[in-house]
This record gives sequence, C-alpha cells and structure tokens, in this order.
Amino acid sequence: MINYAVNTKYIDIINEFRSLIDFINYKDVLIEKMFQIIDMHFNSIAAGIFFNSPDNLEINTLEFFTRNISLDIKDLEQKFFSSMGKFKQIIKHKTNLHILERNNENIILNNELILPFMFEEKLIGGICIFSNTDILKDEIEVFNFIINEFLSIFKLKYIYAEQVFKSSIDGLTGLYNRNQFDISLNQEFNRSQRYKTPFSLAMIDIDHFKNINDSLGHQFGDFVLKEISKIIQHAFRKTDIVYRYGGEEIVILMPETDSEHAILPLERLREKIANYNFKNKNVTVSIGVAGFDNNNSASEILKKADNMLYKAKNSGRNKVVG
Ligand code: GH3
Ligand code: MG
Ligand code: MG
Repeated sequence: MINYAVNTKYIDIINEFRSLIDFINYKDVLIEKMFQIIDMHFNSIAAGIFFNSPDNLEINTLEFFTRNISLDIKDLEQKFFSSMGKFKQIIKHKTNLHILERNNENIILNNELILPFMFEEKLIGGICIFSNTDILKDEIEVFNFIINEFLSIFKLKYIYAEQVFKSSIDGLTGLYNRNQFDISLNQEFNRSQRYKTPFSLAMIDIDHFKNINDSLGHQFGDFVLKEISKIIQHAFRKTDIVYRYGGEEIVILMPETDSEHAILPLERLREKIANYNFKNKNVTVSIGVAGFDNNNSASEILKKADNMLYKAKNSGRNKVVG
C-alpha cells in the first residue's frame, strides 16, 4: 500500500532541489537557496555550506548563516574544518558570515551535524548545522533523502567546476594554459593599475630545444618540458602563477613584485635548471623579465619581457635579463 502523504513530501523535496540546478553556475544564489532548504527542514540556529574547488589555488569560502549575532563563529568554523578529515590542512578557505536577523540572545548550541561530502575519494564540500534542540525535524528516511539530494548538487557543482578548471590547464605540463594567461594578465594589470602595486612578468624559453628534440627524440623533449615545469612550479611562491605560453615558452606572473625583486629568484631558478640532471643531460633556459610601471599596457609588458628574452638569447643564453 502506497503512503501518499509521504510521497507528496518527497516530491516537494525533489522539486526544491531540482530548482537548484538552474543556479549551479551562480554560487552565491545556489548557497542561499541551499540554506533556505536547510532552514525549512532542520531546526537550525546556524548553518554553513562549503564547496571545495578542484583548483587548489582557489580560496574557497565557508558561508555561514545565522540569526544570532552572539555566536562564536570562529569556534564553529574550527569545528567544521576539523571534521573535514585529512583534507583540513590543504583547503585554503575563508569564512563569510551572513546574519539574517539580529537576535542577541545567548544560545547554547548543544547539537551539531557536520557532513563532509565525498566524490571519487575527493572532498567536494560539506554542510554543517548547529542547533539548541534536536536538529532533525523529520523522520530519518526524509533526512537521508534530503542529504542525498544535497550530495547530488555538490557532485554536479564539482564536476562542472572541474570541467572549467581543466579547460584552463595545459595537458602536457599541468601548468595553466595560454588562454588562462591572457585572462590573468589582464586581471593582474587592472589590479596593479587600481591599487598602484607592482607586478612582474617573466618569460622563460628553453635553450636549443629544437636540438634536444632532434638529437634525443621528441619524447625526451617532452620529459624535459614536464620536468622544467615542475621545477618552476616548486621554485616560486603560491601567489606567483606559472603558465605554458607556447611550445617551450613558460611565463610567470609575479604579483606584488617589481622587476628588480623578480630577478633574484629567477636567477636562482636559472641556476637550478642549469645544474639539474635530466637523465644525465644538461638543459639551460633563458629568461626575460619586465615590470609594470604604471605607464605601459598589458601587451607592452609582454612585449618588453619578450625583448628581454631576445637579449638573453643574443648574449649567450642561460641568462636572466630584465
Ligand atoms: P633557442 O635557444 O633560440 O630558443 O632555440 P630553440 O631550438 O629552443 O628554439 P626554436 O623556437 O627554434 O624551437 C623550439 C622547439 O620547441 C621547436 C619545437 O619542435 C619544440 N617544441 C615545441 N613544443 C614542444 C612540445 O610540446 N614537446 C616537444 N618535445 N617539443 C616541443
Ligand atoms: Mg621558443
Ligand atoms: Mg627555445
């Protein structure tokens, strides 16, 4: 015998979640609507929603909603991330607090529900709910049903974000690709112009790479390119982003760094590569550097770095010129 009352309830929940799919690309709206669902189905005083990005350079936000301004949000944030298992250290995050209504009563939160969401062994996000009464409004079957619907939304969002992320990455080296570089250069340029902060652009080109391919094979050439990409990625700060600009040309965008201060770490990098053992072969790179000085355009900076690279090549290679 079918229980029609329960069925209607499930259909309502399905419809609530179905409407979320339209907002999969609008994180703020999605999160707000998810919170409304939590508010409707659980006895929550505070709730948090967190999406983990597949791009580990991105700073993710834990969005907290509460009606009570006396809550110690730092404590709740800490509880949430300590329940995210082994991933808690590697998630770069900040927490945003949204206060829905001002209510300053002192409230003791004695119930909490913290749920990490996993997909293909990766942490894709999580939700948390805090209450001073029993968190569950409904029977456990409904609860499980809702949580599964949440998981589906988290999966969908993650898969979508992963696709976007993959389209910005170069397949061979794992560095950001040219397309992403063009986007980032403009962003960095606008930021520097607005805040009057410096940034530098370094262009790196492998010396005699054609010879390496010709004498040792294209596969060995690919190995060199991958290895050099790894060395560069590990040699710089997290804020310095590395891109594959073209075939064997790599660029680094260094925010908050003028060209004078960019030279020292680039010189160290050049030396490191020159001394590196590429399966008993030596490979060198030439590097050109240009800084943003408030007078030049984004394309002029790129051109200047290219000119400096040309100078490095013409003055004997295995050099940094800026
Ligand atoms: P220079 O010191 O003046 O830079 O000499 P070069 O030989 O490195 O310069 P050139 O621009 O003539 O050659 C670049 C070579 O890079 C040619 C091309 O076959 C090779 N190349 C470009 N992309 C790849 C790649 O993905 N894998 C491999 N193995 N080789 C590549
Ligand atoms: Mg080249
Ligand atoms: Mg070259």
